[in-house]
Amino acid sequence: MASAETRREELKAVWQQAQTCAKCPELASTRTKVVFGAGNADADLMFVGEAPGANEDKQGLPFVGQAGKLLDTLLGEIGLTRAEVFVVNTLKCRPPGNRDPLPTEIDACQDYLFRQLELIEPRVVCTLGNFATKLLRADPATGITRLHGREEIRRIGPRTVRLYPLYHPAAALYTPSMLDILRTDFGRIPELLTLPALEQPEPEEAELVVPEPDVAVELAEPEPAPEPAPEPHPAQLGLF
Ligand code: URA
Repeated sequence: MASAETRREELKAVWQQAQTCAKCPELASTRTKVVFGAGNADADLMFVGEAPGANEDKQGLPFVGQAGKLLDTLLGEIGLTRAEVFVVNTLKCRPPGNRDPLPTEIDACQDYLFRQLELIEPRVVCTLGNFATKLLRADPATGITRLHGREEIRRIGPRTVRLYPLYHPAAALYTPSMLDILRTDFGRIPELLTLPALEQPEPEEAELVVPEPDVAVELAEPEPAPEPAPEPHPAQLGLF
């Protein structure tokens, strides 16, 4: 198993890759910032929301608006802070006008989420709302109303985790009865974190084969490339 530092370095590489992602042409052309996720890159607890809103898009950080404030309050009530958990979204870019994520966008973006799960190695993954729940349970037919507050053991890509679906804080903001349920469901998180670590699947046997460069071909001296503008580092941005 890779060390936390190695996994964090790899996570930074994925962050870098996501910065210029253009898999969804509409989102790539309308976003201000890619919202990759933030928190402790070695967290036991991860939250997966839906997609960035206007505030998140401006700041490049997840859950910084009203729903984020509620998330912070609920975390505080169970003795946790944002710095101890990792928070991501199903989509890394804001859908214009806060429309729902499209199936094609969820499809295009899911590898980033699966890589995040693989590299952060959380034990408990809380899905917030329908989009994250349906994706990570691979069951588009069953919604959050039926599933919230019931943990299940799920294999997600190369990891086995305790998946714990919760109502989305944005929905709970305006519906007091839903907020009560969300608060009660949050109350079980500390207990879930104390449950024994789950057995993990064997790592894939096949190693990625990097092809050798073709050394037989002599190339003309290339023009020196212009200096690329230095990319900010995720740590510099206070992400993880
Ligand atoms: N809602 C989400 O699902 N994600 C955010 O980052 C903010 C609001």
